[in-house]
Amino acid sequence: MRPLSEKIAGVTESATIAISNKAKSMQREGIDVISLSIGEPDFATPQHITDACIDALRRGETHYAPSNGIPELLSAISDKISKENKFPCTPQQAIVTCGAKDAIYEACEAVLNPGDETIILTPAWVSYEPCVRIAGGNVVKHAINPKTFQLDDSLLERVNAKTKMIVVNSPSNPTGAVFNKKSMKLVADLCEDNDIFAMSDEIYEKMIYGKEHISLAAISDMARRTITINGFSKAYAMTGWRLGYAVGPLEIIREMSKVQQHSVSQATTFAMWGGVAALKGDQSCVEEMRKEFDRRRKYVIAELNLMGYETAPADGAFYAFVRVAGDDMEVASRWLEKGHVAATPGSAFYAPGWIRLSYAASMEKLKEAMSRIRRVG
Ligand code: PMP
Repeated sequence: MRPLSEKIAGVTESATIAISNKAKSMQREGIDVISLSIGEPDFATPQHITDACIDALRRGETHYAPSNGIPELLSAISDKISKENKFPCTPQQAIVTCGAKDAIYEACEAVLNPGDETIILTPAWVSYEPCVRIAGGNVVKHAINPKTFQLDDSLLERVNAKTKMIVVNSPSNPTGAVFNKKSMKLVADLCEDNDIFAMSDEIYEKMIYGKEHISLAAISDMARRTITINGFSKAYAMTGWRLGYAVGPLEIIREMSKVQQHSVSQATTFAMWGGVAALKGDQSCVEEMRKEFDRRRKYVIAELNLMGYETAPADGAFYAFVRVAGDDMEVASRWLEKGHVAATPGSAFYAPGWIRLSYAASMEKLKEAMSRIRRVG
């Protein structure tokens, strides 16, 4: 066989999925593995959202829709962004995608040329680097201060003439940290002073505990150069619907639209009707889930601290980010093989010496997981 794409060969498989596959295969062998390795709410999608999708199916919404999304969803997104995220957004500045991941990929394709550099703040979620690389860009990593989990002037050292974009993810997967105003302002100044685009992944904006979510595009003139990524997977427990979106400058959305038109065409038509119900319907379901996550967060962090583990701030998302002694891969393997608890080694997020535990699991499972971790150490 002739050699396949070097570009794709250079991309590693998602480490979060690798661990969860191992856990699943142990489960298939009959082992009672508690999986705290994947970023997925354990709640069912709220009923009114599912009903809206079923109604759409029954009405025959089973054909092609406009590539950027149905007008009803585009206007629901632009309303939500203008009201909640506090920066101006027209329906034309929105694109509905097959999950937020697809929006991230399309944004990279739309913005980057071969050799363009993108700054990724580490610890970082696993898919930013592959998306940048598939688009032909290069990645420059900047490690966030592991005590404060905020940004400082050292970030400026990463900028050079090739820097084209910076990726910001607050609340963060995997750390759970939430950037404060000062950190966000630092990014905004850096972008404006050096003519850099920003991709702000705000998918965990609703999972926040006592802190304020700040949208990067709402700072000074940043809406002109920011692609804001969001979606339905986390806030509305809709991971399997594959529904996300991006909003940004018209010029960028138009280019993302071309990528979409020639690849996936559009997000699934009837799923988009579920999205309309999610954004326009009663938001109390979101708050109920947030409160439950908060309860579990307090429990898990307190238990881990009692065991002597240092943890990252845990102000947002649904992850406990835990500092471990020694090799995180070894610790994660021990927890899985001896304790039957699946967690993700920090190395997957460029953070060796840490482990990410998702607390999007029932309290009962979390209690059992904590006692197993205590046992195997
Ligand atoms: N961004 C972050 C930070 C995530 O954690 C995830 C999901 N794990 C995504 C984007 C992708 O979400 P979606 O299901 O909407 O593709």
